[in-house]
Amino acid sequence: MSPNYDLHCHSNASDGALAPALVVERAHAQGVTHLALTDHDTTHGLSEAQTTAQNLGMTLINGIELSTTYQNQCLHIVGLNIDPQHPILQIGLVDQQQRREQRAQQISDKLAKKRIPDAYAQIKAQVGDGEITRSHFAEFLVAQGYARDPQHAFDHYLSKGKSAFVSTQWADLPTVVNWINSAGGIAVLAHPLRYKMSNKWMNRALADFVSCGGQAIEVVTGRSNPDEIGQSLQMAKRHNLYASRGSDFHNPEYPWVELGRLPPIPESVLPVWQLF
Ligand code: AMP
Ligand code: MN
Ligand code: MN
Ligand code: MN
Repeated sequence: MSPNYDLHCHSNASDGALAPALVVERAHAQGVTHLALTDHDTTHGLSEAQTTAQNLGMTLINGIELSTTYQNQCLHIVGLNIDPQHPILQIGLVDQQQRREQRAQQISDKLAKKRIPDAYAQIKAQVGDGEITRSHFAEFLVAQGYARDPQHAFDHYLSKGKSAFVSTQWADLPTVVNWINSAGGIAVLAHPLRYKMSNKWMNRALADFVSCGGQAIEVVTGRSNPDEIGQSLQMAKRHNLYASRGSDFHNPEYPWVELGRLPPIPESVLPVWQLF
């Protein structure tokens, strides 16, 4: 079977719909041979995913997706091939998780002021020890009839500048890259085109990323068209970065993003798995 790498996806340890075992089973059914589970600011799903992958004879790469604040902007850094137990990483995650928890309560308070009560309690009851993300609030707002779909919930309540947006100071870029590298992993800038930044700003961010130990960039993500792949490829080449490929799968109900279903990495750049 030819290899099919999908190095970015989510389980219900953060904002994915499926339990880790079900994510791995679905990936296997979709023909993925090498999967990285990369939940937001948590490694809790990895041991269950690892057990399932071993039973199915597929490779599970331990991963994570960390939020970082870089020049007042939130960027996502994927860590691949990490040691999930590494103390430097785990101590860092305690802080990130506290920030998530506090932010969730603040978002809930803002919604309560808009006469939308009880969001935090309801979401918390559903996620248990999973990490609460804005996606949970979006789904809550849809379920309660305040938004017709998650995108609408972001556009009206949760995005920057909207009534329930809470600005969060995540750990800074050198810090999160250091957590990943200390845990033996590779730091990857996730979905570089989603930040809607100028080329000049992006080049500065990538130069800073490289100088603090970042090694790769997502060149192929779930919904990339050929033009977007071309733009990300240029960034990879300009900054001598390895290329990653990941769907950012969250939910089978959003069929436009599926595990393992994405274009290949162009041959003119080195794939990140050469570093594994
Ligand atoms: P958080 O890290 O808690 O801010 O949540 C970010 C997550 O929300 C992302 O990983 C996406 O899954 C989701 N998300 C962010 N922006 C949007 C959007 N405009 N529409 C739908 N989902 C979004
Ligand atoms: Mn997400
Ligand atoms: Mn992301
Ligand atoms: Mn993601």
